[in-house]
Amino acid sequence: MAGQHTEFDLETQAIRAGQQRTPEGEHSDAIFPTSSFVFDSAAQAAARFAHQEDGNIYSRFTNPTVRTFEQRLAAIEGGERCVAFASGMAAILALAMGLLEQGAHVVCSRSLFGTSILLFQNIMGKFGVETTFVDMTDLDTWEQAIRPETRFLYLETPSNPLTDLSDISALAKMAHTNDCLLVVDNVYCTPVLQQPLALGADLVVHSATKYIDGQGRCVGGAIVGSEQLLNESIYPFLRTAGPTMSPFNAWVFLTGLETLAVRMQAHCNNAMKLAEWLEAHPQVKRVYYPGLKSHPQYELGQTQQTGSGGVLSFDVKGGQSKAWEIIDNTQMLSITANLGDVKTTITHPATTTHGRLTDEERQQAGISDGLVRISVGLEKIEDIKRDLERGLDAA
Ligand SMILES: *Cc1c(COP(=O)(O)O)cnc(C)c1O
Repeated sequence: MAGQHTEFDLETQAIRAGQQRTPEGEHSDAIFPTSSFVFDSAAQAAARFAHQEDGNIYSRFTNPTVRTFEQRLAAIEGGERCVAFASGMAAILALAMGLLEQGAHVVCSRSLFGTSILLFQNIMGKFGVETTFVDMTDLDTWEQAIRPETRFLYLETPSNPLTDLSDISALAKMAHTNDCLLVVDNVYCTPVLQQPLALGADLVVHSATKYIDGQGRCVGGAIVGSEQLLNESIYPFLRTAGPTMSPFNAWVFLTGLETLAVRMQAHCNNAMKLAEWLEAHPQVKRVYYPGLKSHPQYELGQTQQTGSGGVLSFDVKGGQSKAWEIIDNTQMLSITANLGDVKTTITHPATTTHGRLTDEERQQAGISDGLVRISVGLEKIEDIKRDLERGLDAA
């Protein structure tokens, strides 16, 4: 059944693609917790090692459960191939190690997951890779930052926590005109809401830890794209360096993918209702959510995404003390910086995810002291509102 489901829609592929039933006839996906595999003969072992025969060798780089996850994610992301990793950051490291060399240059959106910024700036910087950070919404600054040695443009859209959007099609054209690649971190939307490869991107990066798992259990990551790019640049790094996804985690993520489409729709529905409710609340100055008509890039969101996502932020009157009051008055919501879970999470970016920035950097990034970020889960929306109301309405 592997990879044969291209005639099916995403919802079906998320449930069916990649499954390889064993002779036991199991209905659910099998899990293969084994480090190595045995061969029928010395000749077969030799053929596998020489790449003359496909098949399992060793779970650092070949495992059937991990392969099923890779094939299923590739199918729904619309890519030829996927390689799975131990975490989202391991995937981004593999991307950098696979595509960059000393003297190479990257252009990145400034509004990235903080650890991704550190990886490009500090870790890759140590090896002579230079990264220029630009305003994600301003196409001119991207164009101006590109140099002859630029290997790829890298972005996340929508951004965290302000939900700014980057125009994927326009940046793909720009990348290709300048002989480099476009890489999109698609963690917030997942392929259910946004298909960067169809919009022209060359590679998609995932942290499976977020919506793909969806229930906050395992850490994992993946890269999806063409056979050529994955085979030549990404897979050799995995095989040699070993930031491998475990079969158990792959199995959990497979069950996550089965419900991804319905969960993402439900996250969008809840987030839209919460965004509209917050926008009408007298204590709220501004709500950041691409589904609201007040979002400055509402039109781009409507064409680029098929849903507005599950993450929103809002700015309250009264700054940090009011923001903390709202957070501390919740009884159900989880106070944590994680996102993409069926459980709603609430966080104060200025003192957590963006706490290491200076006051000036924070101001430049638009992270005000009154900003609260919510990853809207799947609890009943009235219960989420009630939990926020206590702090919001307090005198
Ligand atoms: C969490 C996250 C990552 C990193 O993934 P891990 O699985 O935590 O290593 C990368 N990008 C985005 C947008 C994330 O939210």
